[in-house]
Amino acid sequence: MSKRIYLDNAATTKTATEVVEAMLPYFTENYGNPSSVYDLAATSKEAITKAREQIAAVIGAEPKEIYFTAGGTEADNWALEATYELLCKKGNHIITTKIEHHAILHTCEYLEKNRGARVTYLDVDENGIVKLEDLEKAITPETILISVMFANNEIGSIQPIKEIGQIAKEHGIYFHTDAVQAFGQVPIDVDEYHIDMLSSSAHKINGPKGIGFLYIRKGVKIRSFIHGGAQERKRRAGTENVPGIVGYGAAAERAARTMQERTEVERKLRDYLIERITKEIPYCRLNGDPVKRLPNNVNISFQFIEGESLLIFLDGAGICASSGSACTSGSLDPSHVLLAIGLPHEIAHGSLRLTLSEETTKEDLDYVVEKLKEIVARLRDMSPLYEDFMKKNK
Ligand code: PLP
Repeated sequence: MSKRIYLDNAATTKTATEVVEAMLPYFTENYGNPSSVYDLAATSKEAITKAREQIAAVIGAEPKEIYFTAGGTEADNWALEATYELLCKKGNHIITTKIEHHAILHTCEYLEKNRGARVTYLDVDENGIVKLEDLEKAITPETILISVMFANNEIGSIQPIKEIGQIAKEHGIYFHTDAVQAFGQVPIDVDEYHIDMLSSSAHKINGPKGIGFLYIRKGVKIRSFIHGGAQERKRRAGTENVPGIVGYGAAAERAARTMQERTEVERKLRDYLIERITKEIPYCRLNGDPVKRLPNNVNISFQFIEGESLLIFLDGAGICASSGSACTSGSLDPSHVLLAIGLPHEIAHGSLRLTLSEETTKEDLDYVVEKLKEIVARLRDMSPLYEDFMKKNK
């Protein structure tokens, strides 16, 4: 196979070998339904208990506060819809941000259109960070939930989660955070950050796809989401995805064990890549906060370039990248996140997200920079806007 450099780890990651190895017996030998009574079932049940403990340990939670879901999207839907339904008699106001993932934004829109919710979408600053004074100002006696993502999936900016949690606590409002991109990448402590609910997903941390969890702090009132059997303490029915849960536990343990060393290396490589691109390619800019950002996220806008064309040429050179979130690439609308940080449409269109993994090397990045230089120059040569600009600026 020809060379492939995978730089789309915010979209998904390769399942780690040790994770696959941990999962395999739960497809073949230990296939019992954890709800059954015999010994085979007990093995599955014990495996789920272990995974719950492994995951809880990463965020300082108690194992019984972890509820498995079919991924981050389900956890986000659950947190918002179920909290709203239970508390809407008390108040109908939710506060979130303009840069959330669609799993949050579209759920909020659904609640507005169908359930009478009123939602405030907070602006962010030019680096993609929420302003605490805006949050304070948005709170009303009807506010029942604040949902702010831990770290953004497109530009990597990390929110002041502890301060937001503190504000929510002071006002007696539930605080949910979508930590799908942050879990296993940055340290999280649900008590220290006053988090009441937290969503996460295994496939972003070298675990399998289709498994996630919602952390629900003990005492938080939230209704069950999927109705049926008594699984997940009657809050999320359905026979458990045992191999997926085991894989998530193994991936979470692995992510926590390797976090410090892995993210240190990634951070250095990330900054190396940002420096080379912004120094060596004219008319480009870094999107997102230069410091408060995920250790593996690079997001750059190139003027006079169409992001989708850039992706196609990069793919031709064996480089897997993204022009925004995987869910929005393929659509011609510019990213809502890039618009929210104030980029004009034409610049937002020319954006590229490169997200590194522990397998990324400096040599990979050198190759990417060389290819990017060639491709950007080639695309600009074909751009009438660039031609005009160059004529005017001669
Ligand atoms: N939230 C964020 C911030 C994400 O990045 C994603 C996935 O890209 C999701 C939610 C959805 O997670 P899942 O793919 O597990 O449904």
